[in-house]
Amino acid sequence: MNSSRVSRRSFLRSCAAAAITAPHLLAADRPPNIVLILADDLGYGDLGCYGSKIETPACDRIAQEGMRFTDYYAASPLCSPSRAALLTGCYPPRTGVPRVLVPDDTYGLTAGIPTIGGTLQSRGYRAKCVGKWHVGTKPESHPLRQGFDEFYGIPFSHDMEPLSLIRNADVIEQSPKCETLTSRFTDQAVEFIRRADERPFFLYLAHTAPHIPLAPSTRFAKRSRLGAYGDVVSELDSGIGEVMKALDDSGHSRDTLVIVTSDNGPWYQGSTGPLHGRKGDNYEGGTRVPLLARMPGVIPQGTVSNQPSAAIDLLPTIAAITGSPIPAGLDGADLSPLLRGDRAQIDRGLLLYFDIYAIQCARLGKWKAHFSRWNANRWSDPPANGLRNLPLPRPELYDLESDPGESYNLAAQNSEVVADIRARVEAMLPSFSKDVAGAWYGTFNMPVEDTPEGARPRPRTP
Ligand code: MG
Repeated sequence: MNSSRVSRRSFLRSCAAAAITAPHLLAADRPPNIVLILADDLGYGDLGCYGSKIETPACDRIAQEGMRFTDYYAASPLCSPSRAALLTGCYPPRTGVPRVLVPDDTYGLTAGIPTIGGTLQSRGYRAKCVGKWHVGTKPESHPLRQGFDEFYGIPFSHDMEPLSLIRNADVIEQSPKCETLTSRFTDQAVEFIRRADERPFFLYLAHTAPHIPLAPSTRFAKRSRLGAYGDVVSELDSGIGEVMKALDDSGHSRDTLVIVTSDNGPWYQGSTGPLHGRKGDNYEGGTRVPLLARMPGVIPQGTVSNQPSAAIDLLPTIAAITGSPIPAGLDGADLSPLLRGDRAQIDRGLLLYFDIYAIQCARLGKWKAHFSRWNANRWSDPPANGLRNLPLPRPELYDLESDPGESYNLAAQNSEVVADIRARVEAMLPSFSKDVAGAWYGTFNMPVEDTPEGARPRPRTP
């Protein structure tokens, strides 16, 4: 159409229509929307862009159009503490959720603790949590009290009973069919995006897939050629594709930061790629998980970062990108210079790996020290069948650049590295509760090799 023939009235009409379909154009200083997608028990090797044979075109597209992280960690190898840390930017012992919650538990996310939702709500965001909450059901831990305007999802894992589907504060269904959860959560996410108004929005989409029970819908069952796990990951990826399409269709593709990650490594099925260990372990396979980030025009396309990073970094990073104040006292680091392509690395410092209150491992740069593993040493059980009682050496030290499978202990050749990491850990202990220091020194006073399972440090009721 020749622009000279457009009347003033039709021009204004077309502008009004554009504003309706693309409300983000109304305010030049409008901060970006945030879509944070959290898979449940998705392994490091379960996406095509991380080498999986499961076809995941939606996640692969996000990687191609954004940044893929090779050395990103969940904050725990288990669901609840990992999610609490992701939402708060703090290590699990600081969140009120140091271990996995079950329906009888009465504790949860600490009241008043800064969260991603609360931080963005203060900035004027419309916020919705969809999916698995699993960080507490007491009133002060509820999503509506932790920075979300809306909630649609389940309070615990879908392998726990009783299982309720909740909309905001109301139970709307008991024992929802697991086969329906991924599609229902996707529908809620898409509807929320399509309902965007002049305010920026924050969508926290916490899927239950591919955590067991593996329950693909009829549409995806037996379609992947990689069993039920492959079917469930395919359905998860398809749902992420629908979310991306909703962003495209609503004109919000370019002003939205999309993050895709997982809360811990895979459990009985799924792949850790080249990594050792699985869900529940503080070997890399338990905590190192995919992280994808896409924001066209901001995050350089098709980039890969090997920056050691973690879920505790998401709150300060999102705060920085949205121009929100970064809450004080966080454990996480601001990754926004990496995402913007301004820097290739940041000084991340020490990364800690917790088992409830026990610091089991610490990573510094390429080095990872294992100080304890509560159930790893069966050699020190009473000798049987002629086996000798051989205590295992601790700490262990692994070079994750050359040995991501944690197969070759280099502690004896690098005692100064072990001493440096140990000193850095102990310098951090006063900032934690006495439970953390007690677990640390208790471990050293009573070698873990000789610690019976029942004597493992246990949490006190918060
Ligand atoms: Mg999980």
